[in-house]
Amino acid sequence: MNIADRDRYLAGLAVMLAAEPAVTQDQLRRLYQVMTVLTVGRSKRIDTIKGVFGQRRKRLSKVPKFRDLIVANSMAKDMLTLAVVGVREGRAARFRHAQGILRWPKKRTLSLLAWVGWEHRTIRRVVRGRLPLENPLRVVDLINNCSSNDVEPRALYLTGTRVAFAAVGVPRSGAAAHPNSLMAAAGLEYETAKELFRFLKERHRTANQAAPNPADWVTHARELRARYLEALAEDEAALRRESAGRRPHLHAAVATLLDDDREPTYRRQPVSKTKTWQTRLREKTDQIVIFANEKLREISPERRADLEAMLRENLIFAVPGDDRLEHLQDEVRQILDEICAADPFARSELYRAFEMEAFGRGGRVVRSGPLYDVERAVVLNPVRFSFAWGFGRDGWQEETIPYDLRSALFVELGRVLTRRASHVRVRKCPMCGTYLVATKRQRFCPGPCKADADVIRRRLLRRQKSA
Ligand SMILES: [Zn+2]
Repeated sequence: MNIADRDRYLAGLAVMLAAEPAVTQDQLRRLYQVMTVLTVGRSKRIDTIKGVFGQRRKRLSKVPKFRDLIVANSMAKDMLTLAVVGVREGRAARFRHAQGILRWPKKRTLSLLAWVGWEHRTIRRVVRGRLPLENPLRVVDLINNCSSNDVEPRALYLTGTRVAFAAVGVPRSGAAAHPNSLMAAAGLEYETAKELFRFLKERHRTANQAAPNPADWVTHARELRARYLEALAEDEAALRRESAGRRPHLHAAVATLLDDDREPTYRRQPVSKTKTWQTRLREKTDQIVIFANEKLREISPERRADLEAMLRENLIFAVPGDDRLEHLQDEVRQILDEICAADPFARSELYRAFEMEAFGRGGRVVRSGPLYDVERAVVLNPVRFSFAWGFGRDGWQEETIPYDLRSALFVELGRVLTRRASHVRVRKCPMCGTYLVATKRQRFCPGPCKADADVIRRRLLRRQKSA
């Protein structure tokens, strides 16, 4: 596709979205998918997004003209897709409008619409890891139906299913490293992967002509996914820097999409020669502790933004919206409490005594009462993660893929919990309740807490002697 065509294609979709009462996440995702396939650069992407979220504009009055039938039909398909995945309200009117400007025979529009509907439902199922595909063989009928109604079959694939699969994470991160390409392709359960492959392999001839070499599917999907996520990450960073309060909704929309589509990956093997996994673990633990100790209610908006950026960039967690940072912190503290409570010192009488004394001295203890009882401590929610194995230069490698923050924390701190990494310990200072990444012997924050503890310890010793 030449540049002029590409720009008209993109502008057409943007104008269509700008006229919507509200842009849904599915619509924004589709737009990014299209921009990924059409290899749109950053400044152009940002301009397009600004146009979409800018002032409400007039409706698209006519479809841009393209010489290439594939491009023209693909544009029609994307218009219908955006109408399908938009807000429910006014959907029928949108279809009528799309039909009006396409000026196609009704049967032709309906044949394309049937394909769009199938694609949308299938992708939704795959994203949720739910297959078997709905009527997989029907897809052949759908393609043939489009073909006999003068819709170019190759147009169905230009910005189509493969791209959408790739963008939503098929193949998914860890499974993508799996030596078995079947597993790699889907990143789903084995049965699901098998089903998907059967579907791709047994595709009807028309469909096989439409899609490029099916053997390259996995490679293409991986490349597309990488590019899609890279574009989102770039734009998120740019909009965060640029907007700083001026266009928060714009940044939030892109950030939410990025968080939803990205999956964190953690490699157990050294990632570089200079950085061992021990160093990485130590760094991440430091960052988690910094976040847990922050007094969120008292900090400035700038500090808040810094914290969020740190969590997003370094910990690769999906960071929730501003108002939910407090909930996230509560969860983090709860998990750290459980980890700290596993420390023998935290279970000692002495620890309890320190806590009581500190509390008696004017309530410096952040959390009243003792730490979690390890024997009774339960993890309330299941930890969600999966393992993936792959054979690389350094032999077999294991990768853990957590699905949410809570799970990610357990995965990161798993070695602390199981005491396999004695050099990184998270402890809670009994004097003030601050979390610290402690050296082997360290029990308190340095400074006043340490001095106070010494005073209390001496007094306890005197009491013991006189008793
Ligand atoms: Zn302290």
